[in-house]
Amino acid sequence: MLSYRHSFHAGNFADVLKHIVLVEIIQYLQQKPKPLDYIDTHSGAGLYNLNADTANKLSEHLGGIGKLDANDYPEVSRYFELVQQCDPSGELSFYPGSPLLAKQMLRQDDKSWLTELHPKDYQHLLNNMGSDRRIRVSQEDGLKRLMGLLPPQSRRALVLIDPSYEIKTEYQQVFDAIAKGYKKFATGVYALWYPVVERARIDRLDQQFIDSGIRNIQRFELGVSADSDEKGMTSSGMYVVNPPWKLMATMEAILPRLAEAVSVDNSLHYRCQTLVAE
Ligand code: SAM
Repeated sequence: MLSYRHSFHAGNFADVLKHIVLVEIIQYLQQKPKPLDYIDTHSGAGLYNLNADTANKLSEHLGGIGKLDANDYPEVSRYFELVQQCDPSGELSFYPGSPLLAKQMLRQDDKSWLTELHPKDYQHLLNNMGSDRRIRVSQEDGLKRLMGLLPPQSRRALVLIDPSYEIKTEYQQVFDAIAKGYKKFATGVYALWYPVVERARIDRLDQQFIDSGIRNIQRFELGVSADSDEKGMTSSGMYVVNPPWKLMATMEAILPRLAEAVSVDNSLHYRCQTLVAE
């Protein structure tokens, strides 16, 4: 199937939330001078040309990164610096994907494990990652690959799971992958992105996490308008298992400002919650 291309959506409000959380987690994990493994199961192309036909078609970045002034978010300045490094003109010509944000942060002994199924985006990803002994790129199912990587030798890892949810069964598959991954490696940090297209689906996913026996789960969500079953994606969020301790405080500080900036109905739509305590 694979009709989804992330280039249509790069830099939108969902990417902003996801990538802020991603950069914050990596930063915190790198405070210890020990190697870190970054596992990105659904990597996408790595870098997006916002002037390409695909991005221009919907111009979603104008409702996301295009609405933000870095000066308003000093708490997450690293995210904005990394985006700017990929868009040196500062004219929103390029926006980085998760693998490139992570690549810019890798230290000498860190490793990055990237999987992307779409043949074209896999090729773009290979080109955008260049030759780097710390990074492995493969064209295979990211959730299957994940199981072979856990537990990592370093015993310290961030797993980002960011599917397109083209197929409705993916909601169950990603939950199962985290539940299984957690059994193999309970101290890993798992970050799962989700879209709010139909709130009931996310309520069910919440309940699955609550009932799972997995401890220490937080959720961060940002939306542009109120929930609606008719308007497509109105919000999106990240579940984070084993979040770094300062993440909640950072997100509590910035989400109200982010929500104000991206809102299209003059109301604030965000969530910042502990779903399961430690
Ligand atoms: N994580 C990327 C980022 O933040 O820049 C965006 C990823 S995009 C939402 C989802 C990607 O997953 C698409 O490029 C799609 O082709 C790919 N994909 C879909 N199913 C996959 C699978 N089973 N394994 C690996 N990649 C998959």
